[in-house]
Amino acid sequence: MKNIYFTVGPSQLYPTVPNHIANAVRDGIPSLSHRSEAFVKMNQETHSNLRKLLGIPDTHHIFYTGSALEAMERTVQNTVHKHVLHFVNGSFSREFYNISVDLKKQAIREDVPNGVGFNFGSIKIPKKTELICFVHNETSTGVMQPLDDVAALKRSNPNVMLAMDMVSSAPYAKVDFSIIDIAFFSVQKGFGLPAGLGVVIVNEKALAKAKWLDEKGISIGSYHNFLKLAEFEAKFQTRETPNVLAIYLLGKVAGDMLEKGIENIRKEINQKADLINTYFTNHKEFKPNVEEKFRSKTTIVIDVKGKSENVVSKLAKHGFIIAPGYGKRKDLHIRIGNFPAHRVSDVKKLLHAIS
Ligand SMILES: *Cc1c(COP(=O)(O)O)cnc(C)c1O
Repeated sequence: MKNIYFTVGPSQLYPTVPNHIANAVRDGIPSLSHRSEAFVKMNQETHSNLRKLLGIPDTHHIFYTGSALEAMERTVQNTVHKHVLHFVNGSFSREFYNISVDLKKQAIREDVPNGVGFNFGSIKIPKKTELICFVHNETSTGVMQPLDDVAALKRSNPNVMLAMDMVSSAPYAKVDFSIIDIAFFSVQKGFGLPAGLGVVIVNEKALAKAKWLDEKGISIGSYHNFLKLAEFEAKFQTRETPNVLAIYLLGKVAGDMLEKGIENIRKEINQKADLINTYFTNHKEFKPNVEEKFRSKTTIVIDVKGKSENVVSKLAKHGFIIAPGYGKRKDLHIRIGNFPAHRVSDVKKLLHAIS
């Protein structure tokens, strides 16, 4: 029996991935020099497909990093002199905050309890704040921040840069990049790819800040600072020898998603989320962990009253791999990934198996 991975990342491979890997090997992609014309052409396709799929305008650059955590570090290092504010509502947003602390920035945090989101409009942003960091979809708790609230946050603080972790909401999230200065994700969640590549989307304002910091004599890092990343991006190359196979696969899968239609993908994710949430809302014992306003569509967290181990292991026997709760809440919750790779019919089978 073949397992279906409803885990929240790494997760189920997008269905076309095995074929693309076979083609990559056939065509010698893993052996390509990152200075070759063939690499440049391949990378141009990846950029072009990503821009179309996510609606990334020409005002924003596309950089590669090793992972999303690296993207967090590069973001803070390249855009903050001293003052950064973090919205913390789970483990990944806390990790983002910790990175600012490790980089010796004067980081402050706004906290809400597990399982809720922020009312951005009600929070006063200190005047000196240079960058606001938040996680669009907190994978650890299943909280998704409505993007309308993000727009309101930018409207009331137009001069503060916004950095958004969209690791577990891309490509579902329909982002208005005119209000986002920096956004990033890694590929092993919504894109259904093997781990090992991060993508950072960065506007000119963030780049100018990196330049200003550099000229001031403040460290912005070395080979992966925004200025170096931009210098090589302009040639569709990278400073280091990158994960060429991952860049190839990302371009191909983004192309497949374009062909299917991003709006169809979003509709299907909504449909599957409704199936899962309705099922658990009506369940005698288990309940969604998050109130409707903040409930994630892509990483759904269910309160299973301490029976997580039992549920996870029973489903595994039927070939459905789901995640337990994150960290301290390992026993309390189950987490179900709802990504483009998951078919409606598989979700129905999963819910049937839970019954
Ligand atoms: C998984 C995850 C990360 C970390 O991604 P890596 O690729 O492991 O660096 C960061 N933020 C969120 C919201 C995540 O779900």
